[in-house]
Amino acid sequence: MKEAKGSIVIIGAGLAGLTSAILLRRYGYPVTVIEKNQFPFHRVCGEYVSNEVLPFLHSIGIDIRDLNPSAISKLSISSVSGKIIHMPLQMGGFGISRYVFDHHLYIIAMSLGAEFLFDKATGISFSGDQFSVELSSLKVLPSDWLIAAYGKRSNLDQKLKRSFFSQRSPYIGIKYHVKTDLPADTIRLDNFEGGYCGTCKIEGDLYNLCYLSETKNLKHYGSIPEMEQKLLCRNPHLKDIFGNAEFVFRQPEVINEISFSRKELVKDHVLYCGDAAGMITPLCGNGMAMAIRSAKILADCIHEMDAGTGTDRRLHVERSYERKWNKQFAFRLKAGRYIQSIFLDHRLSNMAVGALSTSKSLSRIVVKSTHGTPF
Ligand SMILES: Cc1cc2nc3c(=O)[nH]c(=O)nc-3n(C[C@H](O)[C@H](O)[C@H](O)COP(=O)(O)OP(=O)(O)OC[C@H]3O[C@@H](n4cnc5c(N)ncnc54)[C@H](O)[C@@H]3O)c2cc1C
Repeated sequence: MKEAKGSIVIIGAGLAGLTSAILLRRYGYPVTVIEKNQFPFHRVCGEYVSNEVLPFLHSIGIDIRDLNPSAISKLSISSVSGKIIHMPLQMGGFGISRYVFDHHLYIIAMSLGAEFLFDKATGISFSGDQFSVELSSLKVLPSDWLIAAYGKRSNLDQKLKRSFFSQRSPYIGIKYHVKTDLPADTIRLDNFEGGYCGTCKIEGDLYNLCYLSETKNLKHYGSIPEMEQKLLCRNPHLKDIFGNAEFVFRQPEVINEISFSRKELVKDHVLYCGDAAGMITPLCGNGMAMAIRSAKILADCIHEMDAGTGTDRRLHVERSYERKWNKQFAFRLKAGRYIQSIFLDHRLSNMAVGALSTSKSLSRIVVKSTHGTPF
């Protein structure tokens, strides 16, 4: 008789958690997903998805055109002082709100039989080859495997003593949906001192406007509107958007404590996935593709290596996941950190825009070093 598959708990229903849930259900595992928010909901994200995910989405039965995304094939970058360059994006991408995209994946995961608990995970322990996950409702969930897909930074990281937690995370992210008249096929990246702002068309007549800033900017200007008026709007392209666009949200979505530090992929047998395993700088526009791909790598490792006896089986999955993750993403993360450090510096960002405007091959190298191939 075939042995029953071990149970899997996934903490976090972002793209990494939802993709894991879909694949592991397809592989026949009992899956429970814990998510602290109710679907559908907005998240801070630039909402530009690299086309490298299209074959994978197709393989799980998603035709992204059903969600009415924009098709993006061009990139424009402006320096702090407003010098702007335009370039084609070789692979390109699409614009879709997380409100729509994540909700769609949630419906698919549910239809495949994944169980969802809308609760907050507050603690994790491992003993006797089993995990126990504590929830804020005081429930305790047992499981054979635990996937931590809870995003960039969580209270759990502190409890689990992950080393990156003690390092500084000096960035904030802010997002709006707006109505404006920028070209629908172009993602704009406008730099400002200590940050950058991306704008791209998403579904319907909406555009996403999302920026990353050093936290010290907000401290200096005292409020988000003040910072936008006095700092971001020094770039004439941002001044134009902030002055003329119709803002759809009354208040922006805001997150803080964004960290791009290296993280453990596996610690105390917890398998980390998506941003919880490592976050690429948003300027690369590749975090969502990475979250989806890391979930695929992990689900495939569990499915392929889950054989043999207790400890060996677990170690095989863990080592294989670390090896494959590093091969796929380690360089991309490093390149993303390096490129971001250039764009966050006023002088260097002007120089970089100048250099990119004179060299097509340089822009191709920059995009290639931060993106994967279709999977
Ligand atoms: C400013 C900014 C702009 C970006 N722009 C882009 C872009 O244009 N393109 C792109 O590809 N990437 C972009 N990214 C990156 C992208 O958003 C992330 O890489 C992606 O969301 C990672 O997905 P995830 O599933 O790992 O995490 P998330 O999407 O963050 O999901 C984590 C989930 O876990 C839940 N959770 C957390 N803690 C708990 C808990 N204790 N219990 C239960 N649930 C919990 C959260 O509610 C959340 O739903 C951007 C990021 C930022 C910060």
